[in-house]
Amino acid sequence: MACVETSSEKWEMVIGLEVHAQIVSNSKLFSSASTKFGAAPNENVSLVDAALPGVLPVINSFCIDQAIKTGLGLNGDINLVSIFDRKNYFYPDLPQGYQISQYKHPIVSGGYIEIEIADGSARKINLERIHVEQDAGKSIHDQSAAKSFIDLNRAGVALMEIVTRPDMRSADEVSIFLRKLRSILRYLGTCDGNMDEGSMRADLNISLHRPGTELGTRAEIKNVNSIKFLVSAVAFEAARQIEILESGGTVEQETRLFDGATGETRPMRSKEDAQDYRYFPDPDLPPLVLKQSRVDAIRRTIPELPDAKTKRLQQEYDLPHYDATLIASEMEISNFYECALKTIKSPGKDEAKTLANWLLGELFALLKKHDKSISESNVSSENLAALVALIRTNVISGKIAKDVLEIIWDTGKHPAAIVQENGWRQIVSANEITVCLQKVLAQNVDKVAEYRDGKEKLFGFFIGQAMKETQGKANPQLLNEVLRKLLEKGE
Ligand code: ADP
Ligand code: MG
Repeated sequence: MACVETSSEKWEMVIGLEVHAQIVSNSKLFSSASTKFGAAPNENVSLVDAALPGVLPVINSFCIDQAIKTGLGLNGDINLVSIFDRKNYFYPDLPQGYQISQYKHPIVSGGYIEIEIADGSARKINLERIHVEQDAGKSIHDQSAAKSFIDLNRAGVALMEIVTRPDMRSADEVSIFLRKLRSILRYLGTCDGNMDEGSMRADLNISLHRPGTELGTRAEIKNVNSIKFLVSAVAFEAARQIEILESGGTVEQETRLFDGATGETRPMRSKEDAQDYRYFPDPDLPPLVLKQSRVDAIRRTIPELPDAKTKRLQQEYDLPHYDATLIASEMEISNFYECALKTIKSPGKDEAKTLANWLLGELFALLKKHDKSISESNVSSENLAALVALIRTNVISGKIAKDVLEIIWDTGKHPAAIVQENGWRQIVSANEITVCLQKVLAQNVDKVAEYRDGKEKLFGFFIGQAMKETQGKANPQLLNEVLRKLLEKGE
């Protein structure tokens, strides 16, 4: 996957990301204005955000704690001294005329995320740095033919810019990396990762080279706001750059825009127009100096993260790696799973696996059908556990359990009550099953003869008939055993 096959030789893609992640915080980075999503335009704007003369920024220490937590969670080094600079440029969305951002001295250096790629192998994606900066406002051009409007609700909202090294080699890796990053940030509670609300977006840097040679010249694609778009942008850019390189040209270092409607990128500005931002330390803000004790205290608040949780689920419950990874991918899913397991009396390996199957299979399908997340599930963890217990103790078959699950979803009733009301207890008496099968065989003498002549797939037909007879209540395993014996015996 890492290499793109072409008519001549192989090209390798080299990709680095700059991810902008909005910090979860009730108020902005340097003002007390709210950050609530969906507010009316300009409802969340303080004098600082509107950059009125004479106002001064004050660092929101909660946002800094969040950035420290993120750095620790992503295995980075926390710099005890970091500096806020002014990045100067004119933009209608930016009333200050500069963005306050960390430049040479970011709060976090280094770090990494381990991802698992399609073939199951692990890859380490290194991080360059994480710095903290302000977001800008938004211009609105589509409400009037004559006027443009400005909404400053986002102006001054705290962002973390998470910059990776050029360590990714395919669109797949980009998508796996972003999902993993989002999962960790959600566990940490430092970014909600909602790309459709703009709380996470990425600049894509991509170049091509022959494996083993120096890195090529990169293009930067700004502000891509979904994983799907990132994947398309990688494909488009790789194809565009290959065409240039194979026809003997050189790729220009430039900034491009991605158009979601066409799936194409187009130039925005070239390196020659790269802006000189005249960075300098913001005189309104002293260097940010942290005590080691503050960093240590935050380290103690870091929850068990997805990788550690995956390992523990595998060890503690003997779950397959695939199941454990899926369950650990979101804290809400793993909480649901572990709560459910706790309600099962001395759960063993089989209970753990059956529960995982029902959670990841049937319940996930219901959630998807009703467009709900696990925390909005109509089926509680206790009820799912109780359903699994009924399956494991052979009270109901897996087939009936699917119907029971749907009824739990609709009514919230306990599964045992549903089974009772509907008379859905499984038939586990060998006698009862023998009588039923004898009846089925007697009604299908010709088919029995065909079966004995070698038409073995009729076995399934007899099973089907017996299931119909018992309204699906026969224990499937027992049914199989008894039928085999009856057919062998020649009865
Ligand atoms: P800038 O601030 O101008 O965007 P950086 O050196 O900070 O430049 O790099 C930004 C991003 O570009 C990083 O994510 C880095 O991994 C990536 N990058 C650097 N060199 C290459 C390259 N040759 N090909 C692809 N990506 C690259
Ligand atoms: Mg950049």
